[in-house]
Amino acid sequence: MTYQQSPWLLDDLFPGRASPELESAFSDVEKKVSAFEKIRPELKPDLGVGRFLEILRELEALSRVGYRMYAYANLLFAADTQNQDAQTLLGRIQQFFAEAGNRTLFFSLWWKDLDQANADRLMKESGDYRYYLEEMRHFKPHTLSEAEEKVINIKNVTGAEALNTLRDTLTNRYTFKVEVEGQVKEITEGELFVLVRGPNAELRAKAYQELYRVYAQDAPIIGQIYQSLLRDWHNENVSLRKFSTPMAARNLGNDIPDDVVNTLLEVARKNAPIFQRFFRLKAKELGMERLRRYDLYAPVSQSSKQYDFNTAAGMVLESFNAFDPQVGTLARRVFDEAHLDSEVRKGKRSGAFCYGVEPTLTPWVLVNFQGRADDVGTLAHELGHAIHAMLAAQHSLFTFHSSLPLAETASTFGEMMLLDRLLAEEKDPAVRRDMLFRQVDDAYMVIMRQAFFAMFERQAHEMVMKNATVDDLAVAYRANIEEQFGDSLEIADEFKWEWVVIPHFYSTPFYVYAYAFGQLLVLSLYQQFKAEGEAFKPRYLKILAAGGSEAPEKILSDAGIDIHSAAFWQGGFDIVANLVDQLEKG
Ligand SMILES: [Zn+2]
Repeated sequence: MTYQQSPWLLDDLFPGRASPELESAFSDVEKKVSAFEKIRPELKPDLGVGRFLEILRELEALSRVGYRMYAYANLLFAADTQNQDAQTLLGRIQQFFAEAGNRTLFFSLWWKDLDQANADRLMKESGDYRYYLEEMRHFKPHTLSEAEEKVINIKNVTGAEALNTLRDTLTNRYTFKVEVEGQVKEITEGELFVLVRGPNAELRAKAYQELYRVYAQDAPIIGQIYQSLLRDWHNENVSLRKFSTPMAARNLGNDIPDDVVNTLLEVARKNAPIFQRFFRLKAKELGMERLRRYDLYAPVSQSSKQYDFNTAAGMVLESFNAFDPQVGTLARRVFDEAHLDSEVRKGKRSGAFCYGVEPTLTPWVLVNFQGRADDVGTLAHELGHAIHAMLAAQHSLFTFHSSLPLAETASTFGEMMLLDRLLAEEKDPAVRRDMLFRQVDDAYMVIMRQAFFAMFERQAHEMVMKNATVDDLAVAYRANIEEQFGDSLEIADEFKWEWVVIPHFYSTPFYVYAYAFGQLLVLSLYQQFKAEGEAFKPRYLKILAAGGSEAPEKILSDAGIDIHSAAFWQGGFDIVANLVDQLEKG
């Protein structure tokens, strides 16, 4: 079997965007929504459990078609963000489902409003739907009247969602000009990030300068989009829904108590010196007095090893197989069903993601594979997500997606399995040392960087409501990275625009702490795996198979982890500190 880079096939969703199948999906949803609307008079406190479950199944069947349509439009758009048909289809589907959602909204409103005794009676018999029902009721104090909820839904289509699509369209058409060996080349953002992680110090600086030159030009526009999105978030979640803080709205969605997130961020802040120590060590390794921010991801070895796609795919699949053949088989399904878009193309979304549509479908994975060790890691990461989704496939549509803080478990674990394999096979001590440096680079990127991102978001949300300008935000961002790096790095002025570049700040406010959560968790889990071997596997697979069928706190406490304790989070940092100690010893 050889693996080649290719675009993905979306046929398992729909044969084409002008296909009769897609059109009939619209009418199918329309029919199902009309039927669902008729159950409204039946919703009484004494509703029988048998009928209640039938109603939930109807809602699930209707949502299933919707999830497929949504996925189709999103994936089409991601594969070509400059395609007008894809963008229009996405807009059409967003509008269609905002309307459909409004017509079925009465069910969740009734459910949230139902008295506790009857809710308990129904939940007790609701099997896999239970946690979904329980989660919904958490939002009771933050739910508005049906009319208000409907206005919010419909206004979101042309409000926050439209602003995000606009930002995507604007930034994904950027090209960047960098002079490489005397020739000016026009490259994509993805290719720019290759230079940033490359061995050439001058190119690293040029790549960053060009990135921020282009983004800073549009900072007045993108910054304005950001201000509007933050005001929108505040207006909805704090003013109308009465969440105590902007971040509390995300925390409840994640079903993570506020104090857990605060503890995580405090512990992260305290541990910033670990990474500062690492950057000083890295400077020494590179023969520099002090690292520039440009050099953060510089490889310590000059040999930048390239992997062809077939080799990379083989290594990743092998490392999954070695952990557990069942896991390897699941990962292979993504390739076998052509659900992987691995090419680099102009207009294609940069970065990488895994899209788990619904339990009966193999997830779709997008990467921009360019042959570096990082790209192999990214492939392992995204396939890890896919494995997670497939392991949880026995759950309902409503309980199979894991909540955000657990969403990065299998992906990060997958990367670590790959790294172990690479280290075991690599004989060259320079390459091995480079890999270990990379591991701390990655830990930095996923833990400390994201934790400070979350702290910036917390501050930015507050500032925007106090009428901060785009430049004010840039100043605050600058202060944020100065605290993060201390005097371990020299930071050029243009890095104050970094927040303009980060898509999560726009599309999913406060998403980022989930990365730090996930990575620290996985560091602990991986250490348990090393210590216990086989005995560990069932506990780990159980976490993944739970999907989103329980609160994260419950899934983890069943695995012996207390997320309220600062010591647990500190344990993750201690593992990183150990890695840095090892590297310092040489
Ligand atoms: Zn991920």
